[in-house]
Amino acid sequence: MSVIEMRGIKREYRMGGKSPLSKDKNLEESAVVVRALRGVDFFAEEGEFVSVMGPSGSGKSTLMNILGCLDKPSGGTYTLDGIETSKSDSDTFAFIRNRKIGFVFQSFNLLARTTALENVELPLFYRRRDKGEKKPASSFRRERAIAALKEVGLSRRMDHFPSQLSGGQQQRVAIARAMVNDPAFILADEPTGNLDTGMTLEIMGLFQQLNSRGKTIIMVTHEPELAAYTRRIITLRDGQLVSDIPVNDRRSAPDDLARWKKEHSLLSQD
Ligand code: ADP
Ligand code: MG
Repeated sequence: MSVIEMRGIKREYRMGGKSPLSKDKNLEESAVVVRALRGVDFFAEEGEFVSVMGPSGSGKSTLMNILGCLDKPSGGTYTLDGIETSKSDSDTFAFIRNRKIGFVFQSFNLLARTTALENVELPLFYRRRDKGEKKPASSFRRERAIAALKEVGLSRRMDHFPSQLSGGQQQRVAIARAMVNDPAFILADEPTGNLDTGMTLEIMGLFQQLNSRGKTIIMVTHEPELAAYTRRIITLRDGQLVSDIPVNDRRSAPDDLARWKKEHSLLSQD
């Protein structure tokens, strides 16, 4: 089933122009329209692992915001898991964002005075409910959060606070948090931007593992080395989708991590 169906997505930003407070009549003509997306068609099926690439200013963040239902397009249609987002009212829009998308950010965004387990439970606590749907019981919340932490390999760190975890472990908590509501897809924005090589490879390995278990992942990255771990690369340029290619010889992050560790230990022995 198609998880994401985007047709002719446009996003325009109007810059400058006449402010209601301005007395200068000439300003109106100086209004500039930035066409950040100029008609993007993008489809993704369940189980895909897609990288979004493109130079700075090409429209990646704009596309991310629309994919994540943080922003609506100026034109075109976006259907997520069968729901037409562009036509939905603000409540439905917030429901889709809350239940259908799991966000992973470069900066982890964990609550500092809260344990790993509580961080992962939080989205269940604030979960938006469908009509007639019951509030998840606390035992259900706990079970789901524990299961999500297990999936990311952190079952022995559940009572740790973020400051007691490495960057890679903190990102694992954030990934567990993103998965706990069982979203239609995970949307990751430069998820390893704050991590060193070893931790980056660990996180890419985790994404590969989750994807092999059927999770759909969309990842924005500007690094071709990281895109090589995904299954498909789409590239934006000047607000248009200029290429969409499958990754043929996909690299294995766990293999690269093992190789990197070996080289690293050889180097530090010298
Ligand atoms: P990327 O993430 O690939 O660097 P962006 O989506 O941030 O690209 O930006 C695409 C284009 O839209 C750029 O020309 C940028 O200057 C412009 N843009 C992005 N956000 C805004 C905004 N809020 N207001 C005006 N212009 C914007
Ligand atoms: Mg950006």
